[in-house]
Amino acid sequence: MSLTIKFWGVRGSLPSAPPPIDWTYHIEGILRNFFSMGYRDPSQVSKYIQNMEVPLLGGYGAATTCVEIQSQKSQLIIDGGSGIRNLSERIMTGTTGRSKGPFHIFMTHFHWDHVIGLPFFTPHFIPGCEVHYYAVQPELEKLIRGIFSRPYFPVPFEALKAKVIFHVLEPRKAYKLDDFTITPYKLDHPDPCWGFKVETGGKAYAHCVDTEGTRITREELGEDLPLYQNVDLMYFDAQYTLPELAEKANWGHSAAQVGLDIALREGIRKILFAHHDPGARVEQVLELKRQTREYYESRERFASQNNDNLPAVSWDFAHEGLEIKL
Ligand SMILES: [Zn+2]
Ligand SMILES: [Zn+2]
Repeated sequence: MSLTIKFWGVRGSLPSAPPPIDWTYHIEGILRNFFSMGYRDPSQVSKYIQNMEVPLLGGYGAATTCVEIQSQKSQLIIDGGSGIRNLSERIMTGTTGRSKGPFHIFMTHFHWDHVIGLPFFTPHFIPGCEVHYYAVQPELEKLIRGIFSRPYFPVPFEALKAKVIFHVLEPRKAYKLDDFTITPYKLDHPDPCWGFKVETGGKAYAHCVDTEGTRITREELGEDLPLYQNVDLMYFDAQYTLPELAEKANWGHSAAQVGLDIALREGIRKILFAHHDPGARVEQVLELKRQTREYYESRERFASQNNDNLPAVSWDFAHEGLEIKL
């Protein structure tokens, strides 16, 4: 295994969990299902739980964007949404042997949902730690310093105990970090947002959140097309249904069908859809899944009517805590 990707936060726009009353109904449904499947004995509960998909039990998660990528030699993090707090907890328990870092945090952009967890990344406060930040945006240092400032956060940047180093990346130019090659490409978002293609050991991950996917054809994508080519796993923004996407033009988020079209054309082998709407309950994400399946099947029917074959692509909607090995 040369590339392991863990999704510590997959929610978009705002950390958001269903209110307790929704969980009450959800748990009632799980219990009813237990009995309707013919189970009767408490000793069967573990088997019942193990056979259910994680989101059907626990939902898709509350935390916003944070993705950890590990190669055989190194580790990097994309974005510091609220999901970075749980990653920080794991780092501080020392199970990875990397509690002093260096840590490498690549920023797509600086909307709240992508920076809100940064003050809770504990290595910032540990003497001897190194935290490196990377972004295409030239104002990177100013923006990160602004997060650690009163009255938004009580510990000013100057009081951080770690050594914090900033690296401004050149657009579309490959950057080497240990055994990783990371290349930033522009996404379609109201404030400039840069996706990353992360490559190592012959495997490639494309991080495409947040994006509206307004440029779809190869011609429109132009110099950003390589983000979608020779990719093993694409992480794509699917906050909306297709009708919502039409209503929310220029909001900077997309729909699964848009990502699926790109993946089928470029031969991407696997897609995970994310940036789930803060208001989306489990049932709503499952409805997005149903609509995506319907669309995929319509593409299959169209292809077979034209004596064509669709390339094999597997897809799903990401949940918090999901880990993928490529
Ligand atoms: Zn976002
Ligand atoms: Zn954004």
